[in-house]
Amino acid sequence: MQIYSEEHDIFRDTFRKFVAKEVTPFVPQWEEYRAVPRELWMKMGEYGFLCPWLPEKYGGLELGFEYSVIINEELIRGDGFGVGVPLHSDVAVPYISTYGNDAVKERWLSGCASGEVITAIGLTEPNTGSDLAAIRTRAVRDGDSYVINGQKTFITNGYFADLIVVAVKTSPEAGHRGISLILVDKETPGFSRGRKLEKMGYHMQDTAELFFEDCRVPATNLLGEENKGFKYMMEKLQRERLEVCIKCQVNAEEALREGLEYAKTREAFGRPIGNFQNTAFVLAEMATDVKLGRVFLDKLIADHIQGKDIVQEVSMAKYWLGEMVNRVAYQAVQIHGGYGYMEEYRICRIFRDVRALSIFAGTSEIMKLIVSRNLGLNPK
Ligand SMILES: Cc1cc2nc3c(=O)[nH]c(=O)nc-3n(C[C@H](O)[C@H](O)[C@H](O)COP(=O)(O)OP(=O)(O)OC[C@H]3O[C@@H](n4cnc5c(N)ncnc54)[C@H](O)[C@@H]3O)c2cc1C
Repeated sequence: MQIYSEEHDIFRDTFRKFVAKEVTPFVPQWEEYRAVPRELWMKMGEYGFLCPWLPEKYGGLELGFEYSVIINEELIRGDGFGVGVPLHSDVAVPYISTYGNDAVKERWLSGCASGEVITAIGLTEPNTGSDLAAIRTRAVRDGDSYVINGQKTFITNGYFADLIVVAVKTSPEAGHRGISLILVDKETPGFSRGRKLEKMGYHMQDTAELFFEDCRVPATNLLGEENKGFKYMMEKLQRERLEVCIKCQVNAEEALREGLEYAKTREAFGRPIGNFQNTAFVLAEMATDVKLGRVFLDKLIADHIQGKDIVQEVSMAKYWLGEMVNRVAYQAVQIHGGYGYMEEYRICRIFRDVRALSIFAGTSEIMKLIVSRNLGLNPK
């Protein structure tokens, strides 16, 4: 299936120019600040680059998923990997638009499209990440409110988020059938956040801890039905993992580009290092990995757009692409020799950043668990 038309190409070109002007020059500054300023969000909102799929009545452009893919891809190509927009537009906000009641949608969605409301999604807790059924954050119904107590960690956009989709236990004895999703406004008394977490890479991302202490939210902030949160997460994780697959693939393409360019220009023993058979073969392997990844990813994007169930394939892709990008980035650093270890070289940042890709949104091991279960196996 042909995914992109001429209109998509025009949009890509426009967004690429936006990134070149508004993102790429500021990357070093934002990496140091450990966050992206809100002005970028506001500018992206102004041009329709946030949640472009939302209905017009909420400030969206009613565009297809292809446009979200383009935004995600071009942000990475322009070094804006840590800009938390794809997680906002394509992971957190869809929970609100799909499961939120009318009042919630009226209250929040137009802000999500304009940049005034930054969202995050809080599933992981200090004691558990892979095993979501083991979360301990508790929400107790009290009249027309829920009172939340607990803690979340590693939350993308966590430090500046205005609105957080929080996974809570509403029926603790029911395991994964006792999880609900509730919206928490940052202004709610009892809600607080820790410092921006210091990470290996992905520095411009304001990843943070969140705390809930007798945090009382209106019962109408419940997304969908009580105790259906796990089901909703399983429904939405397909898109989240696809979004991460895009990050893997484009970073791998960029790492290959860096390695190839360097191999053609750097000389050793009187010839470009790309003319050593070893370097040439390593690049041939990298290019093969990257090509395989692109074919697989584009097929999944096309299937997702057509509304097909891609849970099995996207789990395979999340694991394979997450490992592939790390392989390719490792080799690209090696090709750069000592320069690959220097901050001023782009490959150095790519290498650091991509390490998270086989971990978040489900580790490689959890992906293999899903794949093997779908093969009729029951690994422990
Ligand atoms: C940069 C970054 C951003 C993140 N953003 C968010 C966010 O926005 N929202 C959010 O909720 N979370 C976020 N996370 C958390 C992320 O999703 C978790 O770290 C991830 O799911 C793994 O959970 P964990 O860290 O608790 O590891 P654990 O679950 O403790 O796993 C540790 C190791 O054990 C392995 N393992 C666990 N269970 C099994 C099993 N059954 N079989 C085989 N191996 C197993 C894992 O694969 C892993 O290798 C983020 C993490 C990072 C690093």
